[in-house]
Amino acid sequence: MKTISTVLSMIIAFSLSLNAFSLGKLGEFKFEKVNQNVWIMHGPVMEPNKENEGFMNNPSFVEGEHGLIMIDPGGNYNVGKKIFAELKKVTDKPVIAILNTHKHGDHWFAGKAILEHYPKADSYAHPNMIKVVKEGGADLWYGILERLSGNLKGTKPYPYPNKTVNGGNTLTFDGQIFKIHHPKRAHTDTDILIEHVNSKTLWLGDNLMKNRLGGMDGSSSVYGNIELLENIINQKDGYGKYNLYVPGHGPSGKMHETIDPFLNYFKIILKYAKEAYDNDMESYEIKPKAVKELKDYYDWDAFDGQVGKHLMRAFSEVELKDI
Ligand SMILES: [Zn+2]
Repeated sequence: MKTISTVLSMIIAFSLSLNAFSLGKLGEFKFEKVNQNVWIMHGPVMEPNKENEGFMNNPSFVEGEHGLIMIDPGGNYNVGKKIFAELKKVTDKPVIAILNTHKHGDHWFAGKAILEHYPKADSYAHPNMIKVVKEGGADLWYGILERLSGNLKGTKPYPYPNKTVNGGNTLTFDGQIFKIHHPKRAHTDTDILIEHVNSKTLWLGDNLMKNRLGGMDGSSSVYGNIELLENIINQKDGYGKYNLYVPGHGPSGKMHETIDPFLNYFKIILKYAKEAYDNDMESYEIKPKAVKELKDYYDWDAFDGQVGKHLMRAFSEVELKDI
């Protein structure tokens, strides 16, 4: 009898491992309960590529009594199916709503795999987000992610959010209360930050990253991102004190350990952009000096590729402020 049950448990363990969301050397990914009613799958902290299949964000869900509210489901339809299978391992409750932090496809494209199971679930985003993705933003991100990961098949037609939500709004689903914040211009001009009141958790989207850096575009603001993170730390502009701070990429944690590194990075970037401007230099001329002071970030993913671009972005903002 003992041998049979040992063999059975080995077979069960083997078949479970076959079904795990596994990405080669990167390991296995699953949802973990990190706060009251809050589950997060922390994705690989790296650029989208073939190895990570285009999965590199932090899909999350909040568990109500009867249903689930999902936040940033992930980067494409195919990883979305794997994320959904992992979700099903921890609960059978239906997804009743999806909240999307911003326009970048690595956060919202996987909504397709959720909505095909729960077509009645509403999907929310800021009106700017919905406008931009429908006017070409979705295609732009599809192109970027497909080129890097080759795993976007099935993602079209896009899972466009169908409901708008604005800063200052409160949403309640199944007894779970969410306060929405909108910094006019920080990581982009399409962002919402999502505060789960019940558990005191704050999702910052890509206004916060840890162990990796990401791209900025014409809608981004280094000044705005710094101001936002300082407001959150100082509990100003409607922000409170939270038990858990969730970045768009990288590990979640307590306030200072999670926010300070990214905030200090941008402060150093802005300091050298100002120095360059004041001394009639171009941003690339100040780069070696800035890089020297940024030694704590050398091992962050995409550091080499992003630091010069961030300096250039900050420089143009400094210039604009002076004019
Ligand atoms: Zn982003």
